[in-house]
Amino acid sequence: MSIYISGIGVSKGIAIGEAFVLAREQLDATQVTLAKSEIKAEIKRFTKALSVASKQLHDIKKKIAKDTADDIVVFIDTHLLMLEDPAFNEGTIANIKEHNCNAEWALQMQGERLVQVFDEMEDPYLRTRKDDVLHVVKRIKKALAGTDEVIDNPSYKGRIIIADDLTPADTIMMQHQKVAGFITEYGGPLSHTAILARNLGIPAIVGLHHARQLIRHDEMLIIDGLNGFSISSPEDRSLKYYRSVKRHESAKRNLLNNLSGKPAVTLDKKQITLHGNIDRPADIKLIKKYDDTGVGLYRTEMLFIELNSWPDQETHLRTYKRAVKKLDGKPLTIRTMDLGADKEIQDTIEHGPMAHNPAMGLRAIRRCLKEPQDFMPQLLAILRASAFGPVRMMIPMLTNLQELDQVLVLIAEAKEILKKKRISFDDNIPIGAMIEVPAAALAADAFAKKLDFLSIGTNDLIQYTLAIDRIDDEVNYLFDPLHPAVLKLIHMTIKAGKRAKIPVSMCGEMASDTQYTRLLLGMGLEYFSVQANALLEVKHIIVHSTLKNLQDEVEEILQIHDSNEIKSRVQQLVNLL
Ligand code: PEP
Ligand code: MG
Repeated sequence: MSIYISGIGVSKGIAIGEAFVLAREQLDATQVTLAKSEIKAEIKRFTKALSVASKQLHDIKKKIAKDTADDIVVFIDTHLLMLEDPAFNEGTIANIKEHNCNAEWALQMQGERLVQVFDEMEDPYLRTRKDDVLHVVKRIKKALAGTDEVIDNPSYKGRIIIADDLTPADTIMMQHQKVAGFITEYGGPLSHTAILARNLGIPAIVGLHHARQLIRHDEMLIIDGLNGFSISSPEDRSLKYYRSVKRHESAKRNLLNNLSGKPAVTLDKKQITLHGNIDRPADIKLIKKYDDTGVGLYRTEMLFIELNSWPDQETHLRTYKRAVKKLDGKPLTIRTMDLGADKEIQDTIEHGPMAHNPAMGLRAIRRCLKEPQDFMPQLLAILRASAFGPVRMMIPMLTNLQELDQVLVLIAEAKEILKKKRISFDDNIPIGAMIEVPAAALAADAFAKKLDFLSIGTNDLIQYTLAIDRIDDEVNYLFDPLHPAVLKLIHMTIKAGKRAKIPVSMCGEMASDTQYTRLLLGMGLEYFSVQANALLEVKHIIVHSTLKNLQDEVEEILQIHDSNEIKSRVQQLVNLL
């Protein structure tokens, strides 16, 4: 009988194949008390297991090196670093000595301690990093037990792997073994395994509880990684249908791949700029995987988060130069840091009592202007980076013109410092602002007069316009890019840019969602900055659109007050393709 079960879809795509159910890993340790004379040998057994685990990871790295991007290998490096981390190894050895116990028990205690530290973190991404701790503990336990760890078996080819949990290394090896897809019983959409599955293009479902009881080994299976369901022992009808969906998907992928490197020009010959968003220079590799294009948003706060402090000028410069070099003449839009709200570091600056609502608090440019001496190294480094290639500077979260004036004074000061020291930079470096506070959108004309470009940050513009915290699940249902108020603010900003004859881009998530591409084109948007994996899909829509037809349609849509009606009209635009 055909069974339909659902979990969390984390990596889109249809996979069809026979299930390969991996045995549950019984790795719970039991405590064994050792004689004092046995402790030394036990520590040796543990350190040997550490080196076995480390060798396994190095072997995987070697095996995949040729056909895998650097940013994917980083996931293995994270585990290698954990293996070397004193919190892991010295902590476990201390447990063995203190409790006179076996290595497995000592390691389990240490793992639980570390998991608790991650569990208490507020940031949902960091909380998910406890998975890495568990994966590393598991790997060492297996090494202690002398069991084989690595998913490296040619019989996995074309199969759908069903497991309780998978490590990032397993996921990478799956691609190597040409696995069709996977289902895990645990894990969430932010786990490294889920991120990797998306990067590697493996259809995947996580959090499908009891999957290994519900699905039989060797049974035929269909999985839909976008919608997060699987159908076991499907009827012929379903098989036929999903095979045709899969064929359609792969034809679409080929079609999209053909667009790589081609200009984003509409049918009526309007050239649209299409750039990618990055968090760190290494992400440029991912952009290049899809298309050879520039960067419309580089979120530099990641550098602060990785260092857990404000970087010095040389660190900023080294990082930006790396990005400029990788882009090889393509533009790089560096956004000054946007710490605050959901992105925090434990810096040493005194901020007073904890804000009740950090999204509306001392965030981004507000924080930089409060500490101009700490902001200066970033401004100097961005200017200096402009000597090595086309760099634009973008300021986030501006609310009023006074803030903008203060920033412009600081930039002028930074330029003077560099001139005095005879350090080269581009004196005409374009300076732009993110329009993401409704007040700034309403005053976009005034901002546009003082700037070289504007960029609409819809993630924040929507949260502030609709008064919903973007990370609060409880009010997520109110998040609506098509709310008439949001559309009005976007349209006002685009028109202000046109009046001032400066470019307006959109770098919020709305630009990456192909549902809205035609609406935005019709509103006059000529510059999209999107997630790397959306580059070709957005381009596909652009090259199949005629601006003239869209403008009239969109003009009408902008007069509608009812969100549902707007939605159906926007859907009709999509269907024009
Ligand atoms: C936005 O707000 O739309 C944006 C692009 O910035 P971030 O997501 O980094 O706040
Ligand atoms: Mg923002």
